[in-house]
Amino acid sequence: MQNITLSSNHLKLLFVSTPVGGLGTGLGGGVELSLYNIAKYFLEQGHTLQIVAPEGSLWDKAKFNIVEIPGNLQIIAQSQERDTPVTMPENSLLANMWEYTRSCQHEYDLIVNFAYDWLPFYLTPFFQTPIAHFVSMGSLSNALDLAIAQVSKSYPGTIGFYTPSQGATFTNLTPPLYYLSSGIDLSLYEFCAQPKEQLACLGRISPEKGLEDALAVAAQTNIPLKIMGKMQDEAYWQKIINDYPKAPVEYLGFLSTDKMQQVVRECKALLMTPKWVEAFGNVAIEALACGVPVISYARGGPAEIIQDGKTGFLVEPDSVAGLVDAVTLLDSIDRYECRKQAEIEFSLSANGARFLQWFEDILR
Ligand code: UDP
Repeated sequence: MQNITLSSNHLKLLFVSTPVGGLGTGLGGGVELSLYNIAKYFLEQGHTLQIVAPEGSLWDKAKFNIVEIPGNLQIIAQSQERDTPVTMPENSLLANMWEYTRSCQHEYDLIVNFAYDWLPFYLTPFFQTPIAHFVSMGSLSNALDLAIAQVSKSYPGTIGFYTPSQGATFTNLTPPLYYLSSGIDLSLYEFCAQPKEQLACLGRISPEKGLEDALAVAAQTNIPLKIMGKMQDEAYWQKIINDYPKAPVEYLGFLSTDKMQQVVRECKALLMTPKWVEAFGNVAIEALACGVPVISYARGGPAEIIQDGKTGFLVEPDSVAGLVDAVTLLDSIDRYECRKQAEIEFSLSANGARFLQWFEDILR
């Protein structure tokens, strides 16, 4: 971890959220939690902050100084092919959010873009206020890749990723690139030393999350699997539960952080079986914070988070047999080590300091 000297400079920051769903709805996935925690950190440090978010956002609007923007939601990048042309609906929420951002840009030192979309990258040269782009997923779209590469060249240092393995999915990027990891408010996650005989899966119900492999583990081990997360693809969900009719699985819906951690902390492990390069995997650090080891395929963000054999297990990608083997080894993990790793590497202040350093480098 970098050693960072905190500056006393007061920053005026404009955070522009993802246009795929309101804040707090879960449609945005892990970037919602990241934005929440970064905003919380900067507000607590006394900086000025406004969040531009879709109408229908559920967060405390006064606390987070949220301005809600109307318009039609942007389609999620994961549902598109690599070569699908960039499209926007009529009365585009994304366009409306950036029109608002343009109109008030001079009141801020820095704009921070959290949208995984082509438009904010394309618009960057037309803005007078600098824009930091936090890229929340690995490469999925040729058009977006090109736009990100162009911004990295023209405005060096303004592209931030969660992890190096996420950044490596993009090509033709000009350094410096920033790897910011993630952080959570550890006080919201309670440690549990004595779990029940059950496993957890957290996250959007969507094909890239590879939930079918977790269902296969539940079917083979007969250990109950608790699934929590936003239902994004109902047809996919119906297919996989029909494929594993005997798996002891319970879908609990999309839960608040507090309700979610109450279930997760009582689990023997969190299973992460994504089929894509997971940019980070906020759910991994949420589980660790509860003392819950994480079993994941050894690729993407989780492979950079989990200490194999100490705070979980990294398994050969797409090997269900490997996952099942790891489940049999869970009693060798000291759950206090999991919580300790979360406290050392993924606190709100460690994460906030990384973002502050990035912002100050851009403004310099
Ligand atoms: N999540 C939640 N309630 C649930 C299940 C998940 O709030 O019942 C949140 C979780 O806290 C995490 C996000 O959903 O922030 C999933 O993010 P992750 O980074 O794991 O994956 P992404 O959706 O970004 O691909």
